[in-house]
Amino acid sequence: MFCFYCNTTEDHTAEQCQNRTLVPEASLVINRPENLQLGDTGYETDYAFIEVEWDKAKKKKQGKKQVKLYDQVANTFFGAKSIEMFIISRLGLISWAIVTIKTQAHPLFNGIVVQRAENLSETYDYVVVGAGASGLTVANRLSEDPSITVLVIEAGQFDRNEDFVTIPGLAGGAVGTKYDWNTSYSANDALGGRVVPIPQGKIVGGSTKLNRMVFDRGSKSDYNAWEIFGNSGWNFGSILPYFKKNERFTPPTKEILAEYDIEWDMAFHGREGYMNVTYSPFIWPTHKNLINATKESGIYISGDQASGNAFGGYYCPHNMDPISVTRSSAKEAYHDTAATRQNFHLIAENQVTRIITEVLDGTVKVTGVEFATTSQATRHTVGVSREAVLAAGALHTPQLLQVSGIGDATHLNSIGVEAVVNLPAVGHNLHDHVSAAVINTLNTSVLTQSSLQNATLAAQARQEYDAHRKGPYSSPTGDFLLFLPVSTYSNATAEIYTRAIAGNASISLPADTPAEVLKGYQVQYNSLNNRLLSNESGNLEIIWGDGAMILGLQHPYSRGSVKASSASIFDPPIADSGFLRNPLDVALLREGIRFARRFITSPSLAVLNPTEIAPGAAVTSNEDLEKFIRGGASTLYHPAGSCKMGPREEGGVVDAELKVYGVTGLRIVDQSVFPQLPASHTMTTAYGVAEKAADIIRGL
Ligand SMILES: Cc1cc2nc3c(=O)[nH]c(=O)nc-3n(C[C@H](O)[C@H](O)[C@H](O)COP(=O)(O)OP(=O)(O)OC[C@H]3O[C@@H](n4cnc5c(N)ncnc54)[C@H](O)[C@@H]3O)c2cc1C
Repeated sequence: MFCFYCNTTEDHTAEQCQNRTLVPEASLVINRPENLQLGDTGYETDYAFIEVEWDKAKKKKQGKKQVKLYDQVANTFFGAKSIEMFIISRLGLISWAIVTIKTQAHPLFNGIVVQRAENLSETYDYVVVGAGASGLTVANRLSEDPSITVLVIEAGQFDRNEDFVTIPGLAGGAVGTKYDWNTSYSANDALGGRVVPIPQGKIVGGSTKLNRMVFDRGSKSDYNAWEIFGNSGWNFGSILPYFKKNERFTPPTKEILAEYDIEWDMAFHGREGYMNVTYSPFIWPTHKNLINATKESGIYISGDQASGNAFGGYYCPHNMDPISVTRSSAKEAYHDTAATRQNFHLIAENQVTRIITEVLDGTVKVTGVEFATTSQATRHTVGVSREAVLAAGALHTPQLLQVSGIGDATHLNSIGVEAVVNLPAVGHNLHDHVSAAVINTLNTSVLTQSSLQNATLAAQARQEYDAHRKGPYSSPTGDFLLFLPVSTYSNATAEIYTRAIAGNASISLPADTPAEVLKGYQVQYNSLNNRLLSNESGNLEIIWGDGAMILGLQHPYSRGSVKASSASIFDPPIADSGFLRNPLDVALLREGIRFARRFITSPSLAVLNPTEIAPGAAVTSNEDLEKFIRGGASTLYHPAGSCKMGPREEGGVVDAELKVYGVTGLRIVDQSVFPQLPASHTMTTAYGVAEKAADIIRGL
């Protein structure tokens, strides 16, 4: 456990720490000075001129540094006249500072991180549930209007700029930590009863703090299909301005351009957004072999994946600050820019337990949101005068609806929740990019990722990153990706297509799928069949990692569901991924493995002397490959679709304005609303959808 009073890892929680008595009641404790967001030239707040004297001299004699403090900190002192604040910081050595702040009384409502539920306002115009990609985007944009008040409630905590969160080369390191919900998909018969872990961010920034920083969009046809599924106004052309609005794009470095033929088209990129996006300043060298092999194989290379032609092979940018070469997450992008506004509040480490509704004149209306720190803790409520906006992610949003009485009445009854709105589609249509892996070892003198297992090389690489923001730690990997249409990777397209059109759509779905969900899925099924024949729709992603090839099925047929396991939000939901429920998905992955084996024999990859270790040379028959796939299939961490946008009679949970059917004052803005996954990683689409959602909510 990390105790920020001791500023170290200890065997007690912060609440149990004896040093805690040192901290005055009304103060804010910040464990790293970076978190104070100190300005170079200082900052004067509306309410006080604040001087902070940093004293790092306790262990090391140094002069005092005077700085002025950013107003986020000042505003946390709810009207106190004179406060002593201890700031415990960690700058290599444990150091400390005592700060005396003289300030004057000021109104409660300022752009702040609120630490105690008692300090919140009674009512907000909008309460946003979840501070991840979508929640922070919407909260930020809504709070641009100073006349409205916005509260964000987040179950997780703020990170402390740990290396595994900020350094691109360590991306993914927060998986399995306290910043992860540490959930798993339920045991799946199609995977031999296996349980597959599905990490999800539980942190301010949500999964954008855990993810691998791949920042790509799907193809035009992916988004155009959303409109075909009955969502007027949702197509590539209408989302494009919001993709751009999110983005602050920086072209690759000169050094990278000298080595790689990266192209980009500014017509498809934004310059003014909050999200820093750029290409890695270092690319692992065997990517050159990969790119050359792609060319040798005659695979189309997309000039710029952002254009909507996101198929074939492409150079992939990352959500990365081009100057500090650190992760740009929803927290840095959207929280930190909104936190300066007086009408934006955020409370962390509190889980929303229920959406409170009342029936007024026969209409179910949201009136408040209930939340608590733990299952045993006191429930607090906050009023909602306009809307509650759900952004808790594809697994938690349907669960929250269900424990609030919005879902399938039979299921709600079984967990002891009274049905407020019978909306059986809630939780259905869950799908994710299911993956399989072909692993080769390489015998080459070219620098590969495994070289970092050598402590000396790792230390050199780290020094290069620390000193120059270059080298292996400056790349989260995934700098060139393949998104292959079926015809590019399989000779069996016609056979698979024939099976698909002769097949029964319902075998993709759980047995208890409601009729309206099946009806809507039938439309998706037909569209998935047509994709099999399209040359402009990526069906298989290949992520290269020095001989390892992770294969991700982009348009799976199979669907699962999310169900609250009890009436308590604190009990994890039962999330059935549905992986490989439809055997067509196994056939498509099997073809992917066969392609990967052919591809590795391309001259540019063959020079790396690969030896396959999984599935292994002996695994060749359809039957053996199927067994291998079912035994090892995993996820690319992209759950979506569990509160589908679409007509209610076709299994929609929200309409094209993202309003939940049957309830007034309730919208969903996270990736649970995607009707169908795009062929890409999902964060960029989550931002694009949320940017558009904010404009819809504001009536713009
Ligand atoms: C390990 C991993 C790797 C990934 N890699 C990539 C990648 O490289 N590129 C990419 O494009 N995508 C990637 N993704 C997916 C990407 O991060 C998601 O698409 C995106 O974050 C989804 O946004 P969201 O707003 O729907 O959910 P999230 O960003 O997950 O936000 C949901 C938030 O809601 C909070 N919450 C949940 N329940 C409650 C509650 N009851 N009360 C209060 N708060 C609650 C959660 O704690 C969380 O902070 C990855 C995801 C993971 C987990």
